[in-house]
Amino acid sequence: MIFPVHRRRLLIGLGATLLFALMASGTALWRYREQRAALVADGMTLHRVLSQRVDQHDAHMTGLSALAQAADPPPVEAIRQVAASIVRFYPRIIGIDILDLANPARPPMLGSDLVPEGIFDAISASTAVLTVVPVAGSERIMLIKRVPPGKVSSYLIVFLIDLRQLIETDRFGAKPEAIQLLLEERALLSTGSAEQTAPVVFEAPLASRTQPLLLRVASPIKPGGLFPWPALLLAGIALMVGAIILDRMLAARASARDAGARALLATQDARLAHASRVNAMGELASGIAHELTQPLTAILSQSQAGRRIAARPELDRNAILAAFDATARNAKRAGDILGKLRSWVTKAQPVVEIVDLVSVIRDVIHLTAADAEAVGAKVLFEGPTRARLVRADRIQLEQVLFNLVRNALEAARGMPHPAQITIRLATEGGVASVRVRDNGPGFSPEVQARLFEPFFTTKREGMGLGLALCTTLVERFGGTISAANIEAGGAELLVQLPLASQNRQTSIPEAAE
Ligand code: ADP
Repeated sequence: MIFPVHRRRLLIGLGATLLFALMASGTALWRYREQRAALVADGMTLHRVLSQRVDQHDAHMTGLSALAQAADPPPVEAIRQVAASIVRFYPRIIGIDILDLANPARPPMLGSDLVPEGIFDAISASTAVLTVVPVAGSERIMLIKRVPPGKVSSYLIVFLIDLRQLIETDRFGAKPEAIQLLLEERALLSTGSAEQTAPVVFEAPLASRTQPLLLRVASPIKPGGLFPWPALLLAGIALMVGAIILDRMLAARASARDAGARALLATQDARLAHASRVNAMGELASGIAHELTQPLTAILSQSQAGRRIAARPELDRNAILAAFDATARNAKRAGDILGKLRSWVTKAQPVVEIVDLVSVIRDVIHLTAADAEAVGAKVLFEGPTRARLVRADRIQLEQVLFNLVRNALEAARGMPHPAQITIRLATEGGVASVRVRDNGPGFSPEVQARLFEPFFTTKREGMGLGLALCTTLVERFGGTISAANIEAGGAELLVQLPLASQNRQTSIPEAAE
């Protein structure tokens, strides 16, 4: 398919843009997946680390609880030493103490500044082995364990945990924007500024039976990171160069095709012109033969008569002179015929002039009269008697109508009824319509479809050039030609030409060739 230049460029531009958009969105999607996977991996790492850490709390609590039950009252000094070393090695455990359940007013037994307020209420409401109590207004929690376990406990071991230090790790790859730790939907710790809006990429409860903390990792995916601008810019430039090259290639192909089509047209034109000349020569030759027969016959009979007169014993000079005169006259006529012929041939160049269609039609009827008579056909004219002017080459216009009438005669010839050809001329709206109608068989659909194709013929000796030539000629004068079957039976060829009037400026292309 050949597109006009601007449409082709638009399509290539659209294609390149679409390709670029696909590349950009493909890269972005791929990067988004990568980023998300890295964040999920971070979430899982943090989850594992935190789960291990809270497990350690359990272990330390259990150790201290065993020590507290070793004697009654509990060995405070030994417990203090163990607690001090725990706090030293695990900076997130910022305080450890023991509270006396039997005597709530008693200060913490290890002497820390741990505020026991609310602890007794929290513990009385809970039957759990280990109770997690958030410290209001801080990022800390207290872990409280009954010693001995169960309702009859007499002491509470309390750990104060700093959550910021609990989540501290350097094992991140992508570094999540926001980390949250929640206890029963209540946020105990929120890091990062985007925690409200960032989409959650990882969420899981810590793997601890005693500390039911929920870890949530959130991070916005940064658009800057999704689009590798320098690479995309390079790809865009490459696409643009590719589009330009493609456009050039298509343009070259289209112009090669154009050239091919023009060459083909030129060849067809040349063949048509040649065939038309051959056709005309054929017509001409039979015309010449027909026209010359009469003077040649006259010359032959006059010279035979002259010879006979000259052979008589008494010389009749007048009769001999008369025979010579007649011979000379007929030879001159033959010469005139040939002269006309020469001028007809040399005047082959089209001469566009104002031509009266009525007189052209009359001439054509006259020219085809002998053919019509031969098939017993009538050729009628229906139309105005006054001139109807068009701009055309008279000879070529005659040739067109001559072809149409001759085709009509040939079509109507084989019919059982008498052949009748009607030429109708009508003018309307600045257009002259000439209809050549016959009462022949009309066209079959296949013939009608190919009627104006050069070299299409159904006749044994036809060349199939008549109608193709008519089309070329009529179009030269700004007209059209069409064919249709008529209801009553037969065919109608319609030639339409713009009228040339004194008042109207017609724009008929000059036949330049
Ligand atoms: P040719 O006369 O050499 O065949 P044309 O181009 O003049 O070439 O005509 C092409 C074909 O169109 C003819 O062979 C004929 O089949 C058909 N045709 C032309 N005029 C008529 C007509 N008046 N009625 C029926 N068929 C026609």
